[in-house]
Amino acid sequence: MTARWPIHPRPIPGEALTSWLHRIADGYGITVDDLAFDIGYSLDRDTDLDLAPPEGLIEQLAIQTGVSSDRIHGMSISGYTPWLLDDVEPGPDAFSTYIRQLTVLLPERNRRRRTVSSWRAWVPTAAVRHHRTCPQCVRDSTSPHPYLVVWSLPLMLSCPVHHCWLEHHDGPPGHYYAWRDPSSAPEPQRASLAIRRMDDRTWQALTAGVVDLPRHRIHAGTWFRLLRTVVDELGATMSECGAAQRLTREVWQRAGYPVRAGQAMWRPFEAQTLQRQTRTLEAAAIAMRVLENGHLTGLGRDAALFLPEPDTSLDPGKPLVTTGCPKSLNEALHDAVEDAKQNPDSARQLFNLMTLYRSDDDEHVHRVRNDFVSRSGKWRGSRVGNCRLRRLRFSGEPVTSV
Ligand SMILES: [Zn+2]
Repeated sequence: MTARWPIHPRPIPGEALTSWLHRIADGYGITVDDLAFDIGYSLDRDTDLDLAPPEGLIEQLAIQTGVSSDRIHGMSISGYTPWLLDDVEPGPDAFSTYIRQLTVLLPERNRRRRTVSSWRAWVPTAAVRHHRTCPQCVRDSTSPHPYLVVWSLPLMLSCPVHHCWLEHHDGPPGHYYAWRDPSSAPEPQRASLAIRRMDDRTWQALTAGVVDLPRHRIHAGTWFRLLRTVVDELGATMSECGAAQRLTREVWQRAGYPVRAGQAMWRPFEAQTLQRQTRTLEAAAIAMRVLENGHLTGLGRDAALFLPEPDTSLDPGKPLVTTGCPKSLNEALHDAVEDAKQNPDSARQLFNLMTLYRSDDDEHVHRVRNDFVSRSGKWRGSRVGNCRLRRLRFSGEPVTSV
């Protein structure tokens, strides 16, 4: 039996796998490569532990540290599939599957179908990969400083703890050599209310598996696709927008940037420069704010999600029921699977979610159905695989109840 590593600091919520391994390795004065070698893994330059760790590594780390494999899995981007992205392996139809299901700013007829080869939602292409971190988190910790896995993605603009802008830095994360001189470290800049609201929702999706919008509680998977849809609509060409360009132009004007963040030729968001990604996310935050406060009306079918909450001042109703500490995405997924093993209705709901955006992909539906059957004999004979897939209905019902 392999003995546990005697030093293994607990991971912080949302921490990247490499961040945690750096902190473990630092306790022994060795590198992450040496640490991985100790449990039988030789990491090469192409291994991206924060994207998709090698097969079996997570289980070995769980044995060495006592931290559950579910929790360790959630420290890499692959741990957020199929909610943040459908698959870490790019697929030929991944772009249209992910982005063309919802519409917010633009009417559906204005959404041009596109095929983007080797595309993954939110994961920047290697050429534009960058490092950002929270300057306040760096100030409040010691080297090697912990960092979050989502900071490697163009998904959030601010730190979920300090609500200040994430700042670009050169070199690998964790040490921030260039910031060691206090005069060269950036001052924390508080993000605007619109950005904080957008990022709070993204953080809720990442950590609790749901997002509370003004009128609706939606599933995390829906939130990530909703946000990516708004990002895509703000990057649509003016000819694509047609008469609806009035709406996107006004959002860009409010953001104070040229339309489409100054992009001339269309590129997917993930292949744009850090500056354009940042400006587009800022415009997305503003778009959501003006939809919510009623200053603009979205022309897309799903814009109703951002309608303001009706005035309930005459009826205070029941107090909100809180559920204590939010679940991690992995815990929420684990609970959903366990519930589905016992409850055919829950199994049907989970099946609907897993196939929601790919109902036309027979191969995908078949694969999910087989996976369901293989996980539990209790699902055999249930109508999980035969239920008709329905689009989400935003009629005031929680999405988790579709
Ligand atoms: Zn911070």
